Amino acid sequence: MQSPNPREQSHYNVLAPGPVNLHPRVRETLALPMIHHRTPEFDKILARVLERLKSVFATRERCFALTATGSGGMECLFVNTLARADQVLVVDSGKFGERWAEMARVFGLTTHVLKIPWGEPVTVAAVEAALRENPGITAVACQACETSTGTMHPIREIGALLRERANTIFLVDGITALGAYPLPMDEYGIDGLVGGSQKAFMLPAGLALVSFSAKAWARVEKSDLPRFYFDIRREKAANEKGETYFSSNVTLIRALDTALDLILRPDMAEHFREIRRRAEFTRRHAPALGFTLYSRSPADSLTALAVPAGVDGQKLRTHLEEKYRITLMGGQDQAKGKIIRIGHMGHILPSQMLELMLALYDSLKELHPAGRLPDKGEFFVALQKDLTP
Ligand SMILES: *Cc1c(COP(=O)(O)O)cnc(C)c1O
Repeated sequence: MQSPNPREQSHYNVLAPGPVNLHPRVRETLALPMIHHRTPEFDKILARVLERLKSVFATRERCFALTATGSGGMECLFVNTLARADQVLVVDSGKFGERWAEMARVFGLTTHVLKIPWGEPVTVAAVEAALRENPGITAVACQACETSTGTMHPIREIGALLRERANTIFLVDGITALGAYPLPMDEYGIDGLVGGSQKAFMLPAGLALVSFSAKAWARVEKSDLPRFYFDIRREKAANEKGETYFSSNVTLIRALDTALDLILRPDMAEHFREIRRRAEFTRRHAPALGFTLYSRSPADSLTALAVPAGVDGQKLRTHLEEKYRITLMGGQDQAKGKIIRIGHMGHILPSQMLELMLALYDSLKELHPAGRLPDKGEFFVALQKDLTP
């Protein structure tokens, strides 16, 4: 049996918080012929990418591009900076906090979980209290943006607190933050930071970007957790020779080079502003349709919206995908059916934001003919006004 021609497969407007719409230039780069990783061409690309990643991380430290999804990068931070004797405080404010807590347990670490209600940010006071109660804590792990709830955590403030504690490191999952809004690693006192290719880096899944502070590097030799694939010492030694330790992910590293042009141009301010504009547009206009913000600390990378009363978020999401070919995400676990999540990362044209809002309008009308909605013409005019500066 022949596989279907991918060109005949349909086109979606992917407004999920990862994966995201690819920029045409990224798609062109992805389609280039293969080259071997031991070529002068690839050597140059790798060197340039690793150097330019430092600007995204805003760090003087070395950055790494590992072939793994984001979770592999999370594991890389853990296995290289923690030892069996460590006690880790995990901020659990949703699915990805849960993942880090589970990982810490799998590696046999004494794990303290700071549970935060979904949609709320952790407070520095809560972290401080947890550290006071458990003076043995030697690492704090937190999402910069908890993607399951669209919530931004106060990383700068927690970083400032932990910087004062010589024996405690701060590990941050920046997978939907790094590259989407400012998260300067050195300035914020982050000791281990991970980003993900299919999220804010606007690529397909398959690369985890990581970096370690000097405080974290001091622990790398002392770590006694099992590590092989993610042993950062091997990768560092290989990078110093201009190579990657395992086969290089030529396709994605080359595409990352292109994505970095789009992100850095020539600084990140304009890129961040575009993402923020999409977030603000969503926050401004969705309430007219009866949605409310799910998070008390909404991130720019995605907006989680509580659906209007009587609406099933799962059905709405499926309807948008099947009829309008727009991909959003729903909620998981306790938020299942109650929220939709709209991603603002990746290649999104203003017209695609307009289409999204109109498709939300039409879908609500189709699924709930008796529901209350504003006049469509007026809604459209308000949207359009907001798009033309
Ligand atoms: C997507 C995501 C991950 C996991 O990434 P995978 O690429 O699926 O492994 C981890 N943390 C956050 C905050 C994410 O959004």
